Amino acid sequence: MRKISLSLLLLFCFTLFAQEDYPKDAFAPPMDIPIILAGTFGELRSNHFHSGVDIKTQQREGVPVNSIGDGTITRIKVSLWGYGKVLYIAHPNGYTSVYGHLQKFSPSIEAYIKKLQYNKKSFEVEVFPDYGELKVSKGELIAYSGNTGGSAGPHLHFEIRSSISEKPTNPLLYGMDVADATNPILEKLFVYPLTDKSHVNNNYERTQVNFSKQSDGTYLADKVTALGEIGIGFIGFDRLDMAANKNGVYSVELSVNGKTYSLYDFESFSFGETRYINTLVDYEYYGRNRQRIQKSFKSAGNNLSIYKELYNNGKIDINEGLSYTAKLLIKDYAGNKVELNIPVDGVKNLLGNKKEKKTTDNYVIAKKPNNFDLGGAKVYFPTNTFYEDFYIELKKGKDTVTIHNNTVPAHRNFTITFDVSKYSKEVQKQLFIARLDSKLRPNHANTYKRGNEFTTRTRNLGTYTLARDTVAPTIRTKNFKEKQWLNNYKYLSVQIADDLSGVDTYSATLNGEWILMEYEPKRNTLTYNFDDKIADQTQCVLKVTVTDNVGNTNTLTTSFYRK
Ligand SMILES: [Zn+2]
Repeated sequence: MRKISLSLLLLFCFTLFAQEDYPKDAFAPPMDIPIILAGTFGELRSNHFHSGVDIKTQQREGVPVNSIGDGTITRIKVSLWGYGKVLYIAHPNGYTSVYGHLQKFSPSIEAYIKKLQYNKKSFEVEVFPDYGELKVSKGELIAYSGNTGGSAGPHLHFEIRSSISEKPTNPLLYGMDVADATNPILEKLFVYPLTDKSHVNNNYERTQVNFSKQSDGTYLADKVTALGEIGIGFIGFDRLDMAANKNGVYSVELSVNGKTYSLYDFESFSFGETRYINTLVDYEYYGRNRQRIQKSFKSAGNNLSIYKELYNNGKIDINEGLSYTAKLLIKDYAGNKVELNIPVDGVKNLLGNKKEKKTTDNYVIAKKPNNFDLGGAKVYFPTNTFYEDFYIELKKGKDTVTIHNNTVPAHRNFTITFDVSKYSKEVQKQLFIARLDSKLRPNHANTYKRGNEFTTRTRNLGTYTLARDTVAPTIRTKNFKEKQWLNNYKYLSVQIADDLSGVDTYSATLNGEWILMEYEPKRNTLTYNFDDKIADQTQCVLKVTVTDNVGNTNTLTTSFYRK
């Protein structure tokens, strides 16, 4: 009996910790061009880990994208944001491939989506075709690469997820051929005193430590003196062959005197945990310097599942009179590595007591809801908005509130409410809540208007203000002029813009019939494709209506000829 439970336990442990057996030969590459990555899986991004790989498309759009295996399309989405035009294919082996930022779909899928867009009279659509309704085979053309949605340049965002758990996995686990003989690069090393009593080089704060390359190719840090609990962090990245981009590394291991203290890698993670990236990076440093330090220790509120090994949460106890060697080993997926040895001597602190922490009038307890009335504005933080308790700075000016600053991450949405009773109903209509960016420009925040209370939900600390938009959006034709003959034109292009609150909705008709105009917010353009075959009259009347986020509306009516 005892034996059975022990072997069951061993089996259980094995399935928990062993890397899953990913099929190495099942899939074909998603494109016929050489696979060069502009982004790796798990790469550190704003509030999330990158959930796929970014494949370079030779600085252009329109590169054919093929299904990596036999399967059925389970989801198609067209969105102005996020993945833009995206396609999901479920494969019989239990994995789903995802292709994002597409320019357009293959002709048959494009026709399927166009029909839906004309039915719904909407550019943005999402559909979950029945299983087997849209079958594809391995290597079949499914789309053309693009730059749609939240993409800053032409590329294919490619993912492989577990179909059941929807957890994204590292696409390189499936034998994708990516040239990489280049070692990761270590830029900066930091050592953290982690308790009130610990110090690093007679310092109570995060301390940068220099290092240099040794003849054997490893790196050696300057000797550190410390006492008490300390942690290690670094800034680094990976380079792949034939690409200048800074990519994310695959695994990070910290060991002390030969014992592993922490080891995490980017085999897989879940979308539900991705925002905890803000506990892996030193968010305060990021807020000030826009560079991400990765911590090799687990700090408060960190619920990430990426750790393969963890001892004492990756924190090192340094005792007086003892010497330690901490080793940081950073690898890319191909196994190229950089090794850094950090000698640490346990030495008593020579300074006096730690200087007092900066305090404010308001203290936030992370595990409790916190409500603040600033007179004319209220701020409400639900339970667990923050990872840690802290003194929060709250300031109220004329129609503005400053909620601390961008050095503290919020995990959940909190609400900011402005009292707008001093404004007339007419003015209230044009008011919205805006977040001031680093250059103090107002950015529209979704504003819920209820009587004399305007509320927004956000996860960004910073300064918010009431802004007023009195000007309707502008609309002008871009590739044609009024009353022009457009016989050989393939498309109509219209430029739209809004000065302050931003474009909310738009619609267009041709000779009174709704037409699909594709909106590209990055270029402020609306595009109608003549292949849609609505314009069957010689004289055509185009009408475009655009509304901004407070309801100011403008309409352009123009005509052209076409045979
Ligand atoms: Zn991507």
